[in-house]
Amino acid sequence: MTAAARVCVVGAGVAGCAAALAARANGADVAIVEGPYGASAMSTGAWDVAPLEGMDGPWRTGRTVGEAIEAVVRDRPHHPYARRAGTTAAGRRALLAEIAAAHGALFGALGIYRPFDLGSHGVLVATEAGVARRAASAQIAVLDLDEAGTSDEARVVAVAELRGYRAFDAPSIAASLGQDATRRGDARRFLATPLEFFRRRSDATLGPAEVAALLDGDEARRRFAAILRRDVTVEGLSAVLVPPVLGRETDDVPAKLASALGVPMGEALGGPGGPQGLRLHRRIEAALDAAKVVRIEGPAVRVVVRGDGVSVETGSGSVAADRVVLATGSLLGGGLVLSDGELREPLLDLPVGVRGEPLALPSSARGRDPVALLGAELHAGGLGSSAGVRVDASMRVIDRDETPMARVLAAGALLADHDPTRDGTGLGVATLTGWVAGATAARPG
Ligand SMILES: Cc1cc2nc3c(=O)[nH]c(=O)nc-3n(C[C@H](O)[C@H](O)[C@H](O)COP(=O)(O)OP(=O)(O)OC[C@H]3O[C@@H](n4cnc5c(N)ncnc54)[C@H](O)[C@@H]3O)c2cc1C
Repeated sequence: MTAAARVCVVGAGVAGCAAALAARANGADVAIVEGPYGASAMSTGAWDVAPLEGMDGPWRTGRTVGEAIEAVVRDRPHHPYARRAGTTAAGRRALLAEIAAAHGALFGALGIYRPFDLGSHGVLVATEAGVARRAASAQIAVLDLDEAGTSDEARVVAVAELRGYRAFDAPSIAASLGQDATRRGDARRFLATPLEFFRRRSDATLGPAEVAALLDGDEARRRFAAILRRDVTVEGLSAVLVPPVLGRETDDVPAKLASALGVPMGEALGGPGGPQGLRLHRRIEAALDAAKVVRIEGPAVRVVVRGDGVSVETGSGSVAADRVVLATGSLLGGGLVLSDGELREPLLDLPVGVRGEPLALPSSARGRDPVALLGAELHAGGLGSSAGVRVDASMRVIDRDETPMARVLAAGALLADHDPTRDGTGLGVATLTGWVAGATAARPG
């Protein structure tokens, strides 16, 4: 009998979770070394796999999820999807099937996302800034505006204005969504609807995660439902959009409130530190426990590769394994660090590159030109925003001598050639590459 492969995953964001579950599904014994929360905990509640919007903007359905992935493969030859698919039509078909399988397994384990469907046009969701956008999926707690009537129906979405709560400016959000819909020829209307939920002046200082924790409780939830029933009396009501507060530790708040109202209700997308990212992490931990992945408190401080295995060292001990999957994220997760103006991978000092080559940017005495590296503004991005660890199609890390490392794999935001915060493929890449890396790492031998 062949002994099960021993896989150690470093980093327990979405990529690490997908890798650990895939390695378990392929028969490996798996340990995961956890660090502090990274980008997955900043999750907005939306799940992006590829840019979905067509020329007409988010309100009309553009391409399907499958078509959008194919467009990424076609237009961005270095992107991790293209690297996995190769250049043949059969490779592209296999990629689509693999992305669907990885998401099916991961969403099944997490249990809080709408099902993944390559043939769908995704969901239409609203941000806290009053912008509508499409995503491949979203947490069940998030309102899908496609469920709130069609673009030709003059139905009304009530935007809940929790009086005294400063973190969600319902009148501005309703005005912004309404103007955008009208400009794009969409008949949906948005109306700020005041709700007297808070009782104390100090409630104004609560953040979304704290209000969400309040609504985990039966008493507060029942009171909220009663206020919704009493105060949301809009003619032609099709749905209610609320701030991202529908539970932090529990997952049934949206269903209970929607059944009290009789129309769909759900959240806007939230920001970093909000309940949606915390919910995702709670579900990641539960999924790892259910799959019998051994969770080890990290962080890992060093990975040593020997001829017969790897050793992942933490401050309090070490984990011996046949292979390691680095799912340590990008700058935000700590998988890359900026030191002396250079981007570095800290655990193995792996080479960092972009577009299939080492990162080449103008240098000064203090390292790379910072604007070229990361962009002048947060949303703009420089070449370094797409820099990361390079891998082959099986997610084996390409070493300095351009050979794939047999025992070291990488996945997620750590990988080169996608920009996880900006290019609309963030969580899709984390899922696919984690899944492939975990399966590769679990192979015997
Ligand atoms: C503000 C923001 C908003 C975003 N919005 C969206 C969105 O709306 N849709 C979307 O699809 N994507 C979005 N993304 C991108 C998406 O969140 C990331 O692409 C994805 O979460 C990356 O997952 P990951 O597992 O690779 O990395 P991470 O989630 O960063 O996880 C890496 C983990 O590794 C751990 N780690 C690092 N070093 C060590 C170590 N030495 N030992 C142990 N553990 C370690 C970190 O602590 C962290 O927990 C957003 C990102 C940000 C930052």
